[in-house]
Amino acid sequence: MKARHARWQAGKTRARVREKHVYFFGGGKAEGNATMRELLGGKGANLAEMAGLGLPVPPGFTITTEVCRYYETHGQRYPRTLRKEVEENLARVERLVGRRFGDPSAPLLVSVRSGAPASMPGMMDTVLNLGLNDRTVEGLARLSGNERFAYDSYRRFLQMYSSVVLGLKPRSETEPDPFEEALERKKKDRGVELDTDLSAQDLRELVEEFRDLVRRRLGREFPQDPEEQLWEAIGAVFRSWNNPRAVTYRRLNDIPSHWGTAVNVQAMVFGNLGPDCATGVAFTRDPSTGEKTFYGEFLVNAQGEDVVAGIRTPQQITLAASREWARRNGIPEEIRKARYPSLEEYLPRSYRELRSIAQKLERHYRDMQDIEFTIERARLWVLQTRNAKRTARAAVRVAVDMVRERLLDRETALFRVKPEDLERLLHPSLDLSASPTPLTRGLPASPGAARGRVVFSAEEAEREAREGTPVVLVRVETSPEDIHGMHAAQAIVTARGGMTSHAAVVARSMGKCCVVGCGEMEVDYGNQLFRVRDQVVRRGDWISVDGSTGEIFRGQLPLHEPELGAEFSRFLSWADSVRSLGVLANADTPEAAREARKLGAEGIGLCRTEHMFFEPERIDAVREMILADDPEGRRRALEKLAPMQKGDFREILRAMDGLPVTIRLLDPPLHEFLPNTDEEIQDLARKLGLSADALRLKRDALFEFNPMLGHRGCRLGITFPEIYRMQVRAIAEATAELRAEGARPMPEIMIPLVGFADELRILRAEAESVLREVLGKARVPIGTMIELPRAALVADRIAQFADFFSFGTNDLTQTTLGISRDDAGKFLPEYVEKKILPKDPFVTLDLEGVGALVRTAVEKARKAKPGMKLGICGEHGGDPESVRFCHETGLDYVSCSPFRIPVARLAAAQAAIAPARKKPRHP
Ligand code: PEP
Ligand code: MG
Repeated sequence: MKARHARWQAGKTRARVREKHVYFFGGGKAEGNATMRELLGGKGANLAEMAGLGLPVPPGFTITTEVCRYYETHGQRYPRTLRKEVEENLARVERLVGRRFGDPSAPLLVSVRSGAPASMPGMMDTVLNLGLNDRTVEGLARLSGNERFAYDSYRRFLQMYSSVVLGLKPRSETEPDPFEEALERKKKDRGVELDTDLSAQDLRELVEEFRDLVRRRLGREFPQDPEEQLWEAIGAVFRSWNNPRAVTYRRLNDIPSHWGTAVNVQAMVFGNLGPDCATGVAFTRDPSTGEKTFYGEFLVNAQGEDVVAGIRTPQQITLAASREWARRNGIPEEIRKARYPSLEEYLPRSYRELRSIAQKLERHYRDMQDIEFTIERARLWVLQTRNAKRTARAAVRVAVDMVRERLLDRETALFRVKPEDLERLLHPSLDLSASPTPLTRGLPASPGAARGRVVFSAEEAEREAREGTPVVLVRVETSPEDIHGMHAAQAIVTARGGMTSHAAVVARSMGKCCVVGCGEMEVDYGNQLFRVRDQVVRRGDWISVDGSTGEIFRGQLPLHEPELGAEFSRFLSWADSVRSLGVLANADTPEAAREARKLGAEGIGLCRTEHMFFEPERIDAVREMILADDPEGRRRALEKLAPMQKGDFREILRAMDGLPVTIRLLDPPLHEFLPNTDEEIQDLARKLGLSADALRLKRDALFEFNPMLGHRGCRLGITFPEIYRMQVRAIAEATAELRAEGARPMPEIMIPLVGFADELRILRAEAESVLREVLGKARVPIGTMIELPRAALVADRIAQFADFFSFGTNDLTQTTLGISRDDAGKFLPEYVEKKILPKDPFVTLDLEGVGALVRTAVEKARKAKPGMKLGICGEHGGDPESVRFCHETGLDYVSCSPFRIPVARLAAAQAAIAPARKKPRHP
């Protein structure tokens, strides 16, 4: 009985807590605090926290995100008690401010703002100056002694409320905003440039025009009742959670739609009451570099939206920044001082107070803050603080500096940078400050940014590049013949292909900017142009490519070059000291190996030997080998390739001296190597001393319906043993030569696409016999890739013959999902959009399906051979979420393309520190 009563009591308490929908803040008190983000939204939680700290925050209250969910699921109705709670809280605000809502003699005005648990800047709606009507505006004029200000506030309110709440918007994308149009007309009539030059009478007339506009367009009067205004605005802000902008932003930033937004109702303070008023934004550090300098901008006699709208040139907060700004803009010191003084000079007391509050907030939150403030008649008010958005460079610098300043410990600092952002630091990036509209977009296959003139063939790319013209190679898709053109181009764009298509894999291994699968793009080789909807881009036109976002722009956008400071290495050394996963590179050339080592690779986890054959003088020898009729013909072709292979292996092993280099034996999907065009066939036939028809017949005999499931990987090794024998010999000889020089080469041999234990048994025995011949007793580990579901399911049997496993999750994804890696670009985006798949499974491991196979294989392998080395070398090895899975599954290492090494180092560290954290939080 007692227990039941206790349960009932607990239930009652819970019910009572849920009955509270509104949280007050102001006057040094607050019912909420910063930990209540989910309930109060980021803005509400921080306003409460600041009020609790005794900072000058205009009083107000937050209606919780629970109400947003209720409103959505109850036909846009509110919980029963909400009205009373809002009335009580409004009365509290009135008492603190000493003015009453709707009182014609001393009206209280409020702002009504959104505020979600995660920052969604500018995505939802806001209404300012609420509470004004034809009578209260007169009261405001009397109270402020400033009629112009009162009518300016009223016209702003009419404009904002009509747009946000009443839905009075331009009727089409091309129609100008009718309110802005009226304002412009008025300025023109009066012969003035700025709206601050309009008189009280002008603004009175404008208010009349605005009200008339509402009447004409909506067939109703502008609501005069402040209560009605308030409730309508609250509803509009809740509804704006589901406006298209907010929905898209949530999708792009992984913000769950069930979170909802809170609504903050807060007493207005005015930065536009006269020359001793201002409004602005301050950062506790420079958000672009992370440097520890107080930074920000403000406008005298203005409201917050003016700063955002960029109507007037904002002034700098500090004197030093103001002088620097004037120097850069060629403005003489006297003019700067007179027309654009810093806040430090203009309102020194407010400046000092703001600076000290900023320091206090940064110390309190232990993170860089972005603070919105208003100065009303020389009195400072803080309207908002939040963890500042920052560039990747700034994020690293701030994290390192804050550890030095003892504000953070190293482990916390490691979570202040998103792993994927690190990659951006290594590449140039496009300057998007002018917000250009992309021409089209595809999949972001290889990051970085580049600009160039469009060309449509590898030959042209090479020719133009030789003459010093930067080019972007645009193809329907790429094949090995295009390698030299890809090499010469600044960037590669393809209309087809997925994240692990040929172009994507090769471009990443070259560290070259690449966008694949631009579905809207129609390439017309004949006319040397491509079309995107009604736009045409011709050969020679400039385009700019962003390989990090997949966006393509017309013209030449400015580029920022990458810059790595000492902080970058220090930060990553902290990551290294906590991670347990090894981080190796996928690298096929000595340059890539050297680059990878510089970026912290602890060896090579995948050296794809077929990539070494892509160069023009080699590809013919490979073709000769593939097309040979008998082992003798193949041996002859292989003899040509052997010295090149040995030379490459020697240089790669040298670049990774003392570190393991996993060399994968040949795995060419044959179709990638066969000649396609008539020209290529003629050319090759001539070189091989055959007729074109004979060559065509041979090629056709090799035709495969599904080359990705065809005669590739170890199947080639089983049927043409001389190929792998040549490769193993080249590895062994390169190793022997380096050892003779006193180096410490550490090769490992990896057999691809194994599905049956016997494949590995046979190939291992052959490889061992060649190794013995060249290296005697010295041991070279031999392992296999697990890239077929069958291999994962019989991993214990395969483990008998393997020294290590490396999960080839590109093929494992392709074969488990039955989705071709080359064609996925066509339909996967829609699968992601329709939430059939959470993400592109060729980028982030499909944990449910492919992940289950990996776990099975790990369990079986470890049971059969405890301590066996296990890793991953599919493209997922550089994806933070997949890296976390690898850590949790107990793999020993991940291997990824060189530029993803820093990403993997940090992701591995975060996984090691917070195994329980589902998703680390970032600023
Ligand atoms: C894989 O399949 O994951 C792999 C690394 O091999 P490739 O991409 O060369 O097929
Ligand atoms: Mg593979």
